[in-house]
Formats: sequence, structure tokens, C-alpha cells
Amino acid sequence: MLKVNRNYQKLPGSYLFSDIAKKVAAYQEKNKDADIIRLGIGDVTRPLTPSVIAALHKATDEMADEKTFHGYAPDLGYDFLRQAIAEKAYRSRGCDIAPDEIFVSDGAKSDSGNIQELFSEDAKVAVTDPVYPVYVDSNAMSGRLGDFDSATGKWTRLTYLPCTAENSFVPELPKEEVDIIYLCLPNNPTGTTLKKTELKEWVDYANRTGALIIYDAAYEAYISEDDVCHSIFEIEGARECALEIRSFSKNAGFTGVRLGYTVIPKDLTRDGVKLHQMWARRHGTKFNGAPYIIQRAGEAVYSDAGLKEVQETVGYYMKNATVIREGLLDAGYSVYGGVNAPYIWLKTPDKMTSWDFFDYLLTEKNIVGTPGSGFGPSGEGYFRLTAFGTYENTLRALERIKK
Ligand code: PLP
Repeated sequence: MLKVNRNYQKLPGSYLFSDIAKKVAAYQEKNKDADIIRLGIGDVTRPLTPSVIAALHKATDEMADEKTFHGYAPDLGYDFLRQAIAEKAYRSRGCDIAPDEIFVSDGAKSDSGNIQELFSEDAKVAVTDPVYPVYVDSNAMSGRLGDFDSATGKWTRLTYLPCTAENSFVPELPKEEVDIIYLCLPNNPTGTTLKKTELKEWVDYANRTGALIIYDAAYEAYISEDDVCHSIFEIEGARECALEIRSFSKNAGFTGVRLGYTVIPKDLTRDGVKLHQMWARRHGTKFNGAPYIIQRAGEAVYSDAGLKEVQETVGYYMKNATVIREGLLDAGYSVYGGVNAPYIWLKTPDKMTSWDFFDYLLTEKNIVGTPGSGFGPSGEGYFRLTAFGTYENTLRALERIKK
């Protein structure tokens, strides 16, 4: 008889955001007139910018003519896009990344979920806690994390690196031996980040111990402070111990368009094998390339006009972040993040649990946020609000909270 992958049965509940959507739908069903403001999920609200729309139109017209029609894209991405990324995202920041070290994909969620396929079942994983749930769930599906202990809310074979107000959201280096470390900076959900010197310690640690850093830089466009790296490859030694995942979702609004990429330096070797070669093989076998039209839109993001538009979009959301941050501070909350990231992480008042605060905000203020405990045990007692709403709704939400 066919046996299924039982590791799926070990996963607790459903994906966090499906749980939230169900709760909100049930509330809306009972309160049809409720004017709910959603500051929960990390989806964007600003439309695609003029440069991107123009590129989409142009590429669409090309597809209508047999002379300029494009079929399957190259598995690893079109050269025009890989060149633009290498130049504008890396070399302009002094990072030595070649176009053929960039693997274009349909987004950072797929890459961050799929990358663990390259590693053995007994590889030891470490995550910062709280954490973007995809890293944990994808490793759990592969059976790498042992069992989920519902009493502690922890996987038995996963190393948790707590990030809380007590350590100013700076994780300590692992005390036990680990093989893979996921770092998401600026961080989802806490909105905090590391200074260059702090990140350097992680690179040095990985090179010392042979651990691999999977660096998720999906929010790099939101960095406003100088001593924060946009890429881990700004740190000396990172080419030997890290790969980096990026997205077009949060800078250019591609959440519904789908485009991302992973950078794997050719020098990065583990267990005598180049990870670059492995990922190329994996991509070639399981992925038929991101669509031509979308890759042209991605190229437009790196044009002079496109880069300016990204800055405007990011500026719009960061204005929201300031409204949320300052509004919450005025209302007496302890607030973190929102300076180098579109996420604001707050301590729940009166020692409420994260889900109790979720219910309070939903029912009393008709505001949807995300309970911190959904991101890991150290997220308990915290709550995430996002700056991705409209400015008007963000202002209205904060008025409601301050009342
Ligand atoms: N990585 C992090 C840390 C995220 O927060 C998200 C989305 O919320 C993603 C990746 C997913 O990005 P994409 O839309 O490119 O799949």
C-alpha cells in the first residue's frame, strides 16, 4: 500500500496565515458591517510602478509576434536580468557577485522552502526565534526536525536562537553544533536587524565551524541605517559560507507577479560539493524558468526610473511604519522594528498572550494583526503589525488603537 510522507502529519495545525484568515472570516460572518482594517499579512497594497507596467506591456506585445515570441525561459534566468541584478544589487554595493551566480526563480518563498533539499536528512538546523515559518515547516516536511512537542511549541531536533527584547533581538551564536543557520535580515517578523559588526560575527562563526548561512534579504530595500548590510556578501568571507535569497515582492510589489532569486557563490562548497552545481541541477530538473514577461518587468525594476520608483514605494510604506511606531509609542506600548523594515513588533499589554491580543484587536478595534507566537515560542507575548496597508487605513487603525 502507498505510504505517505508522515512528516506532514507532524506539522502543527495549518499555515499561520490560513488560521488567521479563518478567524477573521468567522468574525466577519457574524459581524457583517464590521469595518475591518488588515495590518496582518505581509502583502503589499501599492500598484506596480510605471516602468514595470511599461515593460510588461512591451514584453506582452513581443509575445504576440512570432519574430519576438519567447517560449521556455532558460532554467536559471535570462542573461539580461542576471546582469542587471549583478550590477545594480551587488556590484554597485561593492559585492563581488557574477551574473551566473544568480538563479532567477518565481519568488523567495519557493527558494527558501526548496533550498533545504540540497542537504542530508540529518543536517542540524538552527533558526532565529521568532522566525518566518517557511524555513521551519519546509525542514519539518523533510523529516529533519524530529517531532513537534506541543507542550513546548518546539521541534525536538531544531536549534532555536531566541530574539527578544532582553537580547535586543540579537541572537547568540549557537552553543551546540549546527550545520545550517537561517538568518532573515531585516527580520520578519520583528522588523529588527543586525549591525555590520554583528553580522560579521555570524560569518566568522560559520567559516570557523563549517555551518552554512541561508540569508534571506527579502526586506533589504527597507534599510535606512548606514551600518546595516543590504547583502551578506558585503561581509568578507561570506562567499565561502553563505547563500542569499531575495524577492521582488516587497520592494517592487511583485507579490502577485512572482519573481525572486537566489545567489550561490561558486566558492561555496560543503561536503566536497559545490552548492552552485547542485542548485543548478535542481533548478534544471524541477523548474522551467520564470516567465519572459515577468523577467523583463524585473529588469525594469533595476532601470534608473525603476530604482527611483522603488524608493518612492518603500518611502510610502515607511511613512506608514512611522505612523504605527509613533502611534503605538504614544499609546504607551513597547515597540520594536519599523526603522529598517516594514514590520512593527510590539509587546502585548498586561501580559496578554499573542492570540488574546489578536482577539482583542479584532473584536474591539476591528484590526487584524499577526500573533507573535505564530512565529515561534519566543514570539509569545508579542504581536506584529505591518506597514503594507494604505496610508489612510494605517492612520485610521492607529486612531482606533489610541482611543
Ligand atoms: N522571505 C521572507 C522573510 C518573507 O517575509 C516573505 C514574504 O512574506 C518571503 C520570503 C516571500 O517572498 P516572495 O513573495 O518572493 O515569495
